[in-house]
Amino acid sequence: MTSSKHQTRLDDRILVAGAGGFIGGALVRRLAERGHTRIRAVDRKPVGDWYQRTPGVENICMDLSEKENAVRAAEGAAEVYNLAADMGGMGFIERFRVECLRSVLVNTHLIEAAWRAGAERYFFSSSACVYNTDLQKDPNVRALKEADAYPAMAERGYGWEKLLSEMFCQEYWAERGLETHIARFHNIYGPYGTWFGGREKAPAAISRKLIEAKDTGHREIEIWGDGHQTRSFCYIDDCIEGIDRIMHSPDLIATPINLGSTELVSINELVDIVEEIAGITVTRRYNLDAPKGVAGRNSDNTMIRSILGWEPGATLREGMRHTYAWIEQQYNDRKAGKRVVEERW
Ligand code: NAD
Repeated sequence: MTSSKHQTRLDDRILVAGAGGFIGGALVRRLAERGHTRIRAVDRKPVGDWYQRTPGVENICMDLSEKENAVRAAEGAAEVYNLAADMGGMGFIERFRVECLRSVLVNTHLIEAAWRAGAERYFFSSSACVYNTDLQKDPNVRALKEADAYPAMAERGYGWEKLLSEMFCQEYWAERGLETHIARFHNIYGPYGTWFGGREKAPAAISRKLIEAKDTGHREIEIWGDGHQTRSFCYIDDCIEGIDRIMHSPDLIATPINLGSTELVSINELVDIVEEIAGITVTRRYNLDAPKGVAGRNSDNTMIRSILGWEPGATLREGMRHTYAWIEQQYNDRKAGKRVVEERW
């Protein structure tokens, strides 16, 4: 990988926290494909439950909200990627605010441990949920630019945890010289993510519902909210590419930056796309009492374009085609009694 100060060597130890999850698992695979030989992957879930396991990687089941575990995990690490958090779609983060807030313990211990271990750089996975919710009350939103996080009025629980952890990253750089990098992810989706069980997000949930409708012949699905709420969705491959670029940019030290797509769609438009991929149409039943989050949210990519000369490029249609195909395979495997990606926490 390229580097802002030291060239990271392929035999440097790299820690990926939250490696049993969706984005962490994809990052580990990418690092291994690039030839990194000393990857340490850590997650609280038992290793058998990880979404992906990459051969040749040191996989450890450990709770990083415990200080001693964070110290053990960061030992000897040149780079630390913190992708560990208790999270899920709106159904999860609106209901389990305490769990979301408690993720602050992971970052608090891990950044201290990384600094003490002499790590060269530290990555924190922040979220668009840090943005002021007052700016997201209309589906025809103005895209959110990085400065819109303050004055702060983040999403309760999850968003405030992210905002505070961002501040830790900024102050560890300012006061202690630990090089930190912060990306604000906007709805990442793709294969190897949660697709049922309660933590799944809209792209996976809608795919699963359409697959079920097709399979059972019951052509009706429930949609959370009125379907007019808008979002942009970023494909996993773009997210992993962005993490690498942000982590190794000398112009992005301790500087939160959006990592998302600018292709804004309503949830109804997302359903249209998945219907087209599935080759069926369904009756949409709107559940206005279900969690639906802010009315609209989009990523302003002016900063990432100007600093990195790059931004996520996959179209939603293209990304959803891969995602749908993977979930359909999972659905069929589950039906056949085979083991599938599952959320048990
Ligand atoms: P995920 O739930 O699939 O993965 C997170 C992983 O962290 C899980 O496997 C979980 O077991 C692990 N974890 C939680 N607490 C832990 C602890 N105490 N010790 C060790 N491991 C622990 O989620 P994801 O989608 O891969 O998200 C990764 C990161 O990106 C998170 O910080 C999340 O908040 C952030 N993020 C994701 C999205 C998105 O759309 N997926 C959007 C914004 C931000």
